[in-house]
Amino acid sequence: MDPEELREAVATACRVMAETGLVEHVLGHISVRLGTDRLLVRCRGPLEAGLAYTTADDIRAVPFDERPDLGGWSVPNELPIHTEVMRRRPEVTAVVHAHPPAVVTASVVGAPLLPIYGAYDIPGALLAAGGIPTWKRSALIRTAQLAGEMADALGSRPVVVLRGHGLVSVADGPPDTAIARAVLQAIAVDRLARTTLTVLQAGGTPERISYADLAELPDLGGGFNVETMWRHLLRRTNV
Ligand SMILES: [Zn+2]
Repeated sequence: MDPEELREAVATACRVMAETGLVEHVLGHISVRLGTDRLLVRCRGPLEAGLAYTTADDIRAVPFDERPDLGGWSVPNELPIHTEVMRRRPEVTAVVHAHPPAVVTASVVGAPLLPIYGAYDIPGALLAAGGIPTWKRSALIRTAQLAGEMADALGSRPVVVLRGHGLVSVADGPPDTAIARAVLQAIAVDRLARTTLTVLQAGGTPERISYADLAELPDLGGGFNVETMWRHLLRRTNV
């Protein structure tokens, strides 16, 4: 993809995040890697009106180690989330940061995100089975040091929950697919958090399904899990 197409793809994904409830208003951002030391990231301009109204103009190229003049646009305070993860994980091509309310609530009550269902959402169940770590701090991640701590908690996993804050979701591979996958992972964790809270509210105990049932869950492949799901979301949200 050329940079203009990539900027459009990031902007579209930002609007999907708003329409799916991953972000509520103006907070949250997506980035995509440009080589070893630059990224495209969702910035805020003079007429900022929230993620739902993101355009390609809001997606700016920024070096990892400089703060260039972006002509009225500013990088997010939490830019280090993106740069530190990309620095530590050279395979990562897309990073999503969002504040889904159910994920925040589940993290505050200390509800673990376990594979409590199976065939209902296979990618979500497998993601949970592999482990969704939590970074225990609720700070605004505006320094490389805080971002490094968060990246340590993420480790080699696709998603980390930030207690009392939100989540970070990362993906590798071709940038357009990686953006979609990182958003879909965030949606899966949001769905799991919502279901976990519903189980607790219904008086139940969220328990992991059996290892035998987990082992029976097939990987339906990226064509179905990412490309078809993303097409569905684009049509459904009409962004
Ligand atoms: Zn944040």
